Amino acid sequence: MTTIQIQLQGVRARMAAACQSAGRAPDAVGLLAVSKTFGAEAVAAAYAAGQSAFGENYIQEAVQKIAQLRHLPLQWHCIGPVQSNKTRLVAEHFDWVQSVDRIKIAERLSAQRPAHLPPLQVCIQVNIDGGVTKSGVPPEATLALAQAVATLPRLRLRGLMCIPEPAADFVASSAVLTRARSLFDALNAAGLGLDTLSMGMSADLEAAIASGSTLVRVGSAIFGARQYAV
Ligand SMILES: *Cc1c(COP(=O)(O)O)cnc(C)c1O
Repeated sequence: MTTIQIQLQGVRARMAAACQSAGRAPDAVGLLAVSKTFGAEAVAAAYAAGQSAFGENYIQEAVQKIAQLRHLPLQWHCIGPVQSNKTRLVAEHFDWVQSVDRIKIAERLSAQRPAHLPPLQVCIQVNIDGGVTKSGVPPEATLALAQAVATLPRLRLRGLMCIPEPAADFVASSAVLTRARSLFDALNAAGLGLDTLSMGMSADLEAAIASGSTLVRVGSAIFGARQYAV
């Protein structure tokens, strides 16, 4: 087995154990493999080990990889910041974008989504712990943004995404992550019909699954340490 196969199996085992401890069905949580900084051959190795959904932060880097891997049936999620001048690339190349935090960006993505492609699947990024320098809409502004995004014709609003600051331990992580779950539940109570709560990374996926995540985004635990970080 390759290292990526072994590590992918390890992550799947952690997810299964976390689902079991939380009394959740083993298939209640999906896995997004975050392949930023790793090349097309690493993605192909993960695909060979049964992984087909991949997350990327840097749009230019991703577009190149997507082109190199066009022969494989992969699903690509944009999870990094999207500036106005990059919306067309995102609309043309990705299946999902999880990092929408402004209506202007959502409107551009909808207008630029090519007609021959299915609607772009969207999550709203929430700044759940209020980090001052962070992207994400404040929790109290999330419902209004979600309602506006839900009206855009070429987008399909699927849920929320958050990236909390690293926490000391399971309890500290869970305190923040359960706030995201409550917000997700409140939006559904308001009728938004969301099915995706994207939270949990290599370090905190157990706490995220215990708190009600439906999609964890895991990079280093699958692909190894990143050689350059931005
Ligand atoms: C890099 C990244 C991840 C994966 O982080 P790891 O700690 O390597 O698992 C998940 N989500 C986002 C938004 C990221 O930028």
